[in-house]
Parts: sequence; structure tokens; C-alpha cells
Amino acid sequence: MTERVDVAIVGAGAAGLAAASALAEQDMVVRVFDEYPEAGGRLLGQHYRLGRRRWNGSEVAGALLQSLHGRGQVSIAVGVTVYEVADVAQSGFLVRTHPAGNLTASRVLVATGAGENAIPLPGWTLPGVLTVGAAQVMSVVHRVPPGRRGLIIGTGVLSFAIAAELQEAGVEWLGIVMAPESDATAHLGSVPERWEALSRLDAAAPSWMRPIVRGLGRPALRPFLMGRYPRAGVAIAGTHVYLNQMATRVVGSRDAAAVELRYLDGHGHPTGPSRLIPVDFVLLSGGLSPITELLDPLGVKMTESPALGGRVPVLSPAGETSHSGLYVAGSAGGIESGAVAVAQGRLTGLHIAHSLTGSRPELVSAIEAARQKLSEARRDAPFEFNPGARAEVSRLSQDSRS
Ligand SMILES: Cc1cc2nc3c(=O)[nH]c(=O)nc-3n(C[C@H](O)[C@H](O)[C@H](O)COP(=O)(O)OP(=O)(O)OC[C@H]3O[C@@H](n4cnc5c(N)ncnc54)[C@H](O)[C@@H]3O)c2cc1C
Repeated sequence: MTERVDVAIVGAGAAGLAAASALAEQDMVVRVFDEYPEAGGRLLGQHYRLGRRRWNGSEVAGALLQSLHGRGQVSIAVGVTVYEVADVAQSGFLVRTHPAGNLTASRVLVATGAGENAIPLPGWTLPGVLTVGAAQVMSVVHRVPPGRRGLIIGTGVLSFAIAAELQEAGVEWLGIVMAPESDATAHLGSVPERWEALSRLDAAAPSWMRPIVRGLGRPALRPFLMGRYPRAGVAIAGTHVYLNQMATRVVGSRDAAAVELRYLDGHGHPTGPSRLIPVDFVLLSGGLSPITELLDPLGVKMTESPALGGRVPVLSPAGETSHSGLYVAGSAGGIESGAVAVAQGRLTGLHIAHSLTGSRPELVSAIEAARQKLSEARRDAPFEFNPGARAEVSRLSQDSRS
């Protein structure tokens, strides 16, 4: 006979673990699945300082796991992939996994996180070219830096966080440069659009630079500012940022040996001759997209939201999708920070308990406190992964109420 639980959670990352912890407090029977050999998700690789803030994701994951210790009704199965969630009339959902078999659950929470977008430029398949997330896992989780001298292509938020992390691991950075413009990198927008996106990260820049960074958001000022961009780059996060240089290809016979760069004029067009800069390794930083494949077979209502990383499920304020009993939390519902995913996971877990046990005064006040915490986590986030994410979250939540 198929095992039955109250709640099945797909993903033991920030959101999944926080939801499991909240459900454990409400005495729910919960099974969490994660295909990675260790629980913690992307938190395990997050360990850096941005400005005055310090964030140690593995400590956060450790505290969440500790909160589950001795809670016999919650179990975490790692090394197990959920490959289908099917609706079973009256019994809730059938959750199909490999290799742990199937179970049925009254509610399912999809907390599958986000995946990285590629930057396909000539030479990107050479050994020694990695995504920033892969380098983060190698260096912070497995303690193996990807090389000695590296260059980051792409100016997304993760470029700065991961540059700071790998600098602590002893990597010598050659800089962060712009990704090329092509059909394959259309998801990044044009170079002026990327400069504009960076202007919204002004709060993370040193105070003397903030007015200049904000100026990048003003089309009339941009040619002036970029025309005076320091040739030596701007020092941030243990590296130098070259917003006036673009990578055009990675060069090497057996592995990545050099990157070809071009200068950009004040309108973002390549100008002057190209030059080669020797490297040990190259990181690509093309942004993140929510992982939502499990939702499609259930016909969940989705919407296109560039500010949240692409195609995301439409969620009620409780985190429920258009399919009754199926919930989403964390980056699978839109790309935000680790702290937001934790707060969102807890709130969604409490809402799921509420849907199963009905209203109780202590649960209602726990939900209110969790809602408050989520607003604070969003307000205090040091950056948005994509410009306008906070505004988009509140717009979508208002839409879902109407
Ligand atoms: C490469 C990368 C780097 C990031 N770095 C930062 C950072 O430095 N700072 C920051 O604030 N945010 C960062 N983020 C954003 C990150 O998504 C959030 O910080 C946070 O970890 C999201 O929590 P989550 O629980 O939604 O997802 P995750 O923490 O990603 O957890 C999702 C889990 O689901 C599991 N999973 C997925 N699909 C399945 C399946 N079908 N079956 C079983 N298990 C499955 C995965 O193995 C994973 O463990 C990063 C994201 C990525 C992708």
C-alpha cells in the first residue's frame, strides 16, 4: 500500500526546510524530498559579506535542520528526485519519486528553487568555463576553487556575491565584464538596459559611488558617465568591474586559456580593436530562472514576469497555486534572496497547516507573525535579483486577491 502523509515537500532548500519546520510545530506528518545528497539547497553555498551585511547560508540551513531534530513526524529523503506530482481524486496527490517510490499526500509544496541561465558565447563549452553557481558549489561547499585567475562574464547580482566568496578562497580576479549581445543572450537585455538594471543596485555600492551608479539609470547621462569610466575599472567585492568592456569569445585549444574583450562606447556599442586576456577559468553569470516543470502537467496558471526571473506560478497570498492543495514557495515562485525564501517557506507551511487543521487562534497569530517577517525580509534584502522584483510581488499578490 502507498504510504500517506499530510504534506509532501519537493526541495529541502531554504523554503522547503522552513516550511517543514513550521509544519512540524503544527504536528503535521511531512516528507521532504531532495535530489541533492545533502539538505540545504542553495543555502549551502552562500557565505559572503556585501557592504556591511554578512550572510552565512549553511548556518541558516543548520538551524532549520536543528529545529526538525527529534520531530519524528518529519522525515527528509535526500538523493531522491520527484519526477511527477499527479492529482488523485479525493486522496490529494500521488508523488512519484526515484528511487524512493511513490507516496500520497493531502497537500504538496513545490520548493524546487531556481536554475541558472547560460551565456552561450563562442568557446563557452571549453573545459574551464563554468556558471557562477557551479563555482560557488565547488568553492564554498566542496572547498575546491575552480582555478587561480578568473574572469566573470555577466554583471548580475550573483557576480558580485560569488566574486566576494571566491576571493576569500584565494582566487585572483581579473574582473567582471559585460556579456555579449546576441540572440542567445536576449534574456539579459541590451547593454544600456543592463547598465540601467545595475543602477538599481546603488544601495550595494560604496557611498561615494552611489550617485554615479544611479546616473547609469538616466539615458541622457549614460554616454557622459560611460565616456569617463575608469580604464582600470571600479573596485567592488574583491574584484574590478568593467562596465565599459564586453567579452566576445573564450579562446583555447584544450581548455579556456584567454577571453577576447572589446571596449564599449557610451551607447553600449563595441569600439576599437579586440584584445586577449589570459585566464585559468571563466565564470558565466546569466541570471536565474524558477524551476517549475512539476507544475505544468497539473495545468497550474502561470504568468510571465521578467522581474521574478521569467515564467512563474500565480499564487494566492497563502502561496497556493490555481490548483487546490498545491503550493509553491521560494525561488520556484520568483527569484528573491535566501532570507526571503526562508520567510516565505515558513509562511506557506503555516498556511498549509491551516488548510488541513482549520482555524486556531495560535495558528492565526503565527501566520500573522510570519507574514510580518516576510515583509521585513523583503524590505531588508540588500538587493533585488532583477529590478522591480519587490513591486512585482506586491502587484501579483493584489491581482491574485481580485
Ligand atoms: C546558483 C544560485 C546561486 C544563488 N546564490 C544566492 C546567494 O548567494 N544569495 C542569495 O540570497 N540567494 C542566492 N540564490 C537564490 C536562491 O535561489 C535563494 O537564496 C534560496 O536558496 C532559494 O531557496 P529555495 O528553497 O527556493 O531553493 P533552493 O535553495 O535552490 O532549494 C531547492 C532544492 O530543491 C531541490 N530540487 C529541485 N528539483 C527537485 C526535484 N524534482 N526533486 C527533488 N529535489 C528537487 C534542489 O536539489 C534544491 O536543493 C542563488 C540561486 C542559485 C540558483
